[in-house]
Amino acid sequence: MAYDLLNGEQREIRELVRSLARERIAPRAAEIDESAEFPWDLVELFRENDLLGLPFEERYGGTGTGTLTLLVAVEEISKACATTGLILAVQELGSLALKLAGTKEQKARWVPRLASGEWLAAYALTEAGSGSDSAAMRTTARRDGDGYVLNGGKRFITNAGVAGLYTVFAKTDPEGGHSGISCFVVEADATGLEVGRIEPKMGIRGSTTGEIFLNDCRVQAGNLIGEEGEGFKLAMRILDRSRPGIGAQALGIAQGATDYALEYAKSRETMGKPIAEHQLIAAKLADMETKCEAARGLLYRYGLLADEGADGPELTKASAMAKLHCSDVAMEVTTEAVQVLGGYGYIKEYPVERMMRDAKITQLYEGTNEIQRLVIAREMVRELRSSALAVV
Ligand SMILES: Cc1cc2nc3c(=O)[nH]c(=O)nc-3n(C[C@H](O)[C@H](O)[C@H](O)COP(=O)(O)OP(=O)(O)OC[C@H]3O[C@@H](n4cnc5c(N)ncnc54)[C@H](O)[C@@H]3O)c2cc1C
Repeated sequence: MAYDLLNGEQREIRELVRSLARERIAPRAAEIDESAEFPWDLVELFRENDLLGLPFEERYGGTGTGTLTLLVAVEEISKACATTGLILAVQELGSLALKLAGTKEQKARWVPRLASGEWLAAYALTEAGSGSDSAAMRTTARRDGDGYVLNGGKRFITNAGVAGLYTVFAKTDPEGGHSGISCFVVEADATGLEVGRIEPKMGIRGSTTGEIFLNDCRVQAGNLIGEEGEGFKLAMRILDRSRPGIGAQALGIAQGATDYALEYAKSRETMGKPIAEHQLIAAKLADMETKCEAARGLLYRYGLLADEGADGPELTKASAMAKLHCSDVAMEVTTEAVQVLGGYGYIKEYPVERMMRDAKITQLYEGTNEIQRLVIAREMVRELRSSALAVV
């Protein structure tokens, strides 16, 4: 039997998710891509099978099964449909502020609705003028009596228009730079919150990516997560923990493309034999499989570290490396999968075309891969490597 670092419970969950992905999600993937409609039927499937509880503790209605299990579930779903895998990854992203910095009361108020899947979550950091440079945001939150009044606009927000709860970052001190940013929960029906344009996209087309406008949007003081001025640090801690979810989505796309290309290569014949037996195609398949397995090593290592309670620079670096490598592998492997299928790879009837388009976003969001490289190098520069110097 192949080495498997998952325990018995994790394998059972993987089997459940794998069979749902094969039987219920894969048959919908092309249609979701074509129609660019948010797949509410698959959210319902998640609810029925408790999958939206995977990011959460048992005491708030979650499964309490930890980070590695969540990553495996996102990977399995994304093998079939990257849009649908993203729904689970963003349930984690949009609720991490509450998980990391929410009070008991705040968790009790909001987390059960997220864990049951009644509400989807969203994370609203990016603005038109601030993506990688998120501290340059212009949205403000002004203290007013027993609450705050938010004004500004967010762009490219996943789950815009379908989320029940938005984690929104805004400047409580507009002159304060990083330390002027605070984090709020804004419920979807809050007065003054409006959803703007939903963007047409290259890939993950069933996922909504849209603008959020905050026009004198009033929230109670109890919607502030953490302390005033701690929002930027919290946003970065959240991304440390959510990026591997994108790594898992990317790895799922890559493995799905590898599996499809393999089956195709075994049945497509040229010059009297299956193309899988032509050395140049066999080498591609071998490289694709090896890249996926290496990416899985980094991703699962992150999952184990997170489940052991690791924090700080070690977690930051492991997270950035997992996201960077899984997404670069997804782009390389899906491009090769199209090549293995020849002309058919370029045709919409075959899923590798969609997978190649879906893979691209994983190098861009939750911090571009240029930013991941900056993060990894920054951590490397801080590390003490005196043993290396000793041998020079
Ligand atoms: C489909 C989709 C979904 C998204 N979902 C969300 C979401 O749910 N919530 C949210 O808040 N945001 C979301 N985003 C936003 C996403 O995280 C940003 O687009 C991304 O972080 C990059 O920001 P930018 O687009 O402003 O690019 P820019 O920051 O303008 O970067 C442009 C280019 O310059 C490079 N660059 C920038 N700064 C540096 C630097 N210092 N050194 C080297 N290179 C640099 C970048 O890597 C990139 O190649 C989403 C985006 C998309 C497209």
